[in-house]
Amino acid sequence: MVLTMARPDDWHLHVRDGAAMAAVVPHSARQFARAVIMPNLKPPITTTAQALAYRERILRAVPAGVRFEPLMTLYLTDNLPADEIARARDAGIVAVKLYPAGATTNSDAGVTDLRKVHATLEAMQRAGLLLLVHGEVTDPGIDIFDREKVFIDTRLAALRRDFPALKIVVEHITTREAAQYVAQAGPRTAATITAHHLLYNRNAIFMGANAAPALRPHYYCLPLLKREEDRLALLAAATSGSARFFLGTDSAPHAAHLKEHGAGCAGCYTALSALELYAEAFDAVGALDRLEGFASHHGADFYGLPRNRGSVVLRREAWTLPETVPFGDTTLKPLRGGETLAWRLYEQ
Ligand SMILES: [Zn+2]
Repeated sequence: MVLTMARPDDWHLHVRDGAAMAAVVPHSARQFARAVIMPNLKPPITTTAQALAYRERILRAVPAGVRFEPLMTLYLTDNLPADEIARARDAGIVAVKLYPAGATTNSDAGVTDLRKVHATLEAMQRAGLLLLVHGEVTDPGIDIFDREKVFIDTRLAALRRDFPALKIVVEHITTREAAQYVAQAGPRTAATITAHHLLYNRNAIFMGANAAPALRPHYYCLPLLKREEDRLALLAAATSGSARFFLGTDSAPHAAHLKEHGAGCAGCYTALSALELYAEAFDAVGALDRLEGFASHHGADFYGLPRNRGSVVLRREAWTLPETVPFGDTTLKPLRGGETLAWRLYEQ
């Protein structure tokens, strides 16, 4: 079985910086033509100048002869000035990322109160810059499995109402409620979905082979994997053909020893085999014919960018993913490392 499709894009990616970045960028560049680069470095990317310098560093990590375009974003803080937005747009920056303060890795500088960023959101709406949302509240009194649903009810609905012309992408949705919200929220609201949220429910964090008890830190990510009914709702949305659901891996590299740790980091590393994992998820529900739209068309259309030229080929061919890959002076464990995958990517 062979599947040929237009070159896809990754609409949500973490590549870090320095030696870690040099180790992971080639994986994404092999899989995707473009990727939206998350700005949550330490310190975060909050100015156009920083974003352009980061873009140059990423391009230097792309192997010779490979075409890969990083699409840059700014990190929304309480203090991002509205007049930075026009500058960002003129420099080709595509979006601004909203992290509620403390929601995930390196999000301490995030927004503490949406009222503080109204002028900046208005400037984005005027300039046509997208708002990318990490849709979880951070109130410690709210159960960690409910934080996405509460964010939608208490924050996102108000954002949508107050900025009707703003294009909003709800990133890495994980629940049935989020899929339903996006499906009915109109033409300016879309969502990215990761491969791991299409393939796994939260049991994966707590069970190994044959459902034996095992705490598996490589399945720990934020937002967390949810219930099986949520996974099925995400799969239905991704394979529905709706142009407002598209691919975003949220691939997030952490050194293996920092995930296998008493206070392990959140994030799944999927960039090495992203399309293979998505193909497995779509294949499982007989929807391979919908993968090209989800992976290669819908995101570009929503962002208002041209679709890619060229194509990639996926074959149903068993191969074993390496258990670890080099990561600066340490190692990185890809999700499913050491296991056999059913699909394999070939470049055309
Ligand atoms: Zn992310």
